[in-house]
Amino acid sequence: MDAILKGLTESQTQAVTHIDGPLLILAGPGSGKTRVVTHRIAYMISQGVSPSQIAAVTFTNKAADEMRTRVGQLAPGKPVWMGTFHRFCAQLLRRYAPLVGLSENYSIYDTSDSKQAMKRAIAAANVSTSHTSPEQITSIISSAKNRLVTPEMMLSASSRTGDAVAAKVYPVYQQQLLTANAVDFDDLLFHVAIMLRNNPELRQDLDSRFRYILVDEYQDTNLAQYAIVRGLSINNANLAVTGDPDQSIYGWRGADLNNILDFEKDYPAVKTVRLEQNYRSTPNILRVADQLIRHNQKRKQKDLYTHNPEGDPVVLRMYEDGYQEADGIADEIANAIRVEGMRPRDFAVLCRMNALTRSLEHSMRSRGLPYQIINGVEFYQRKEIKDLLAYLHLINNPNHDVAFQRVVNVPTRGIGAKTVERLRRYADVNQVPMLQAARDVYQIEGIAKRSATFVTRFVELYDRLSKKASATLEDLLRYLVDETKYEAFLEKSSVDQQDSSAIGNVDEFISAAVEFDRQHPEDGTLEAFLEQVALVADTDAFEDSDDRVTLMTLHAAKGLEFPCIYIVGVEQGLLPHSRSMDTDAGFEEERRLLFVGITRAMQRLQLSVCKRRTVRGDTRPAVPSPFLNELPLDELKKVESTVDRDWFDDDPDAHGGYPESWDLPDEGDASSVDDSGPTVHESAATAYDEACQLPEAELAEMAATKKRKSAQVS
Ligand code: ATP
Ligand code: MG
Repeated sequence: MDAILKGLTESQTQAVTHIDGPLLILAGPGSGKTRVVTHRIAYMISQGVSPSQIAAVTFTNKAADEMRTRVGQLAPGKPVWMGTFHRFCAQLLRRYAPLVGLSENYSIYDTSDSKQAMKRAIAAANVSTSHTSPEQITSIISSAKNRLVTPEMMLSASSRTGDAVAAKVYPVYQQQLLTANAVDFDDLLFHVAIMLRNNPELRQDLDSRFRYILVDEYQDTNLAQYAIVRGLSINNANLAVTGDPDQSIYGWRGADLNNILDFEKDYPAVKTVRLEQNYRSTPNILRVADQLIRHNQKRKQKDLYTHNPEGDPVVLRMYEDGYQEADGIADEIANAIRVEGMRPRDFAVLCRMNALTRSLEHSMRSRGLPYQIINGVEFYQRKEIKDLLAYLHLINNPNHDVAFQRVVNVPTRGIGAKTVERLRRYADVNQVPMLQAARDVYQIEGIAKRSATFVTRFVELYDRLSKKASATLEDLLRYLVDETKYEAFLEKSSVDQQDSSAIGNVDEFISAAVEFDRQHPEDGTLEAFLEQVALVADTDAFEDSDDRVTLMTLHAAKGLEFPCIYIVGVEQGLLPHSRSMDTDAGFEEERRLLFVGITRAMQRLQLSVCKRRTVRGDTRPAVPSPFLNELPLDELKKVESTVDRDWFDDDPDAHGGYPESWDLPDEGDASSVDDSGPTVHESAATAYDEACQLPEAELAEMAATKKRKSAQVS
């Protein structure tokens, strides 16, 4: 136990040794919140709490892995459940799937699968997309799910055009997912939250099964996540959450700051611990972070101090363009490694959007600097991997229509788009999966005999493959590649596409299967493998044992730390992102994003801007971000002759006007800020609590707090 408490500060110790009852750890970056969670789990075990009663929810799988290792060292023994919300829900849902109309072998659709399904739902719902794009519909439905709005609720509530269109698509989309025995990412949370709400006995069972729940980065939970945690902590309110409202950066994904701000009201018996000593950064870095975040209106000031040495001043550098920026940074890193004995893994370059990493990659490569880009999903998005995965999905779940459509004619076997369309229509009309439609092919009008023969051959192939479903993953995959003659298909098609890496990727995929078999000698089912692949998050590819420079987005950097940080492209339109500038909430979230970036740095930090910026071939004059003006400029080391104070005065005319917005299509980073805010949150949360039959007293308390709060507001 000495090892568990040794070296902790007084307040950290208080948090670590608090076992029963709600606990809120509210503190700024680098103050040891994550460390406290880890040590607290170890402490609880040392005090006799059974590991099987503890669940720890982290923001990434990687954070969970780290925590597992550390807890294992401090308190060896049975493992504690640790993982992301999505993984937690995926596993619960696997057990209780029938309660929400699924079966246990349900599939998890990835983003591109969901996109396909959405396209089909929009067509089947027969709505016009001339005023509301498919992307808007998707985003409205996603945000509805994050707020636990069901299709019925949405139909009765929507009046605005976009919402009304989405409301028509939503039930069709959900029905299609159910028919396909599939869920999208939002559904994982949505189904579990609704399941807990509708099944009081199950809720109570799970509440006692997970007697102790810990949630790190609670400031970024959305309503669905809130409801799940709440539902599991009513009878046993041993819920510990950590958070920093200044680091809430997922508003565009429905995260609701009120979850943490209201924690003390939701759990009146709470013990609140504030940590004020920062162990991560130099005073120089902390001051810059503090000055910046003070500009947010909606926040409470927190004071952080550190005993770390003063360190170097923060650097603000101006480059001519993005290529010079990339070269300059790569040169500096190479130099620091050569002269100062630093390691590549000491450096991270952070940017607002993935698109900015391209020139950085080039510069790193040309200097022989090892680097890694954190974009874990990429491998599984490659065409050949998606093909093979789709086969596996279909073997695991014959109702998986997206997978069916992907592989029915891959490798090419004479089944044309028209035939597939007829199968789809038959499936829609009869509400059966498309594989069933394929079995019924001779009953479907308009499909030529020849095509029907090809379809039947596909069904026969499928049946052969399914017989292998319970073999080891390696055997199944090798059999699949052989039976479909997939490599020959790749060889043929790669001649035109000049893509010789495809076969290498197939080999890598087989290696992943071998590794999975090795790690799961007992429970290595196809289902478990597919679940693992589906839940690979951006940051999971990150291996800090690898000695490489890390390139990643600011969002992905959350919770991490590096000795040296470079933040590139601190420019108007990029940071703040053009799509976030219209609302105060959006703008403040961008400021928090920069704050998160700055506070990742331990010893050195550089922020940079360019005079010109080229993104996707388009070059425009760039303007420094208004956030730079908010920093203590006198303290910063400004480099490049072109950088003088005038540049940072917020006068657009001084430098030829602001560029129009970049308006870049960027997969993960679309900032659609949800302003529906506290009203939805409160009413839905109250509705949830009512459904869970909270004790009268607590309800009364909640109502009283709500009144107090509205009195404060007005
Ligand atoms: P963030 O808000 O960025 O997630 P955090 O509050 O979770 O930060 P940690 O990552 O837990 O902070 O801790 C930051 C760093 O400080 C880590 O390297 C951690 O090991 C170190 N640290 C925290 N507390 C102590 C302590 N009492 N003694 C020594 N080092 C500490
Ligand atoms: Mg942390």
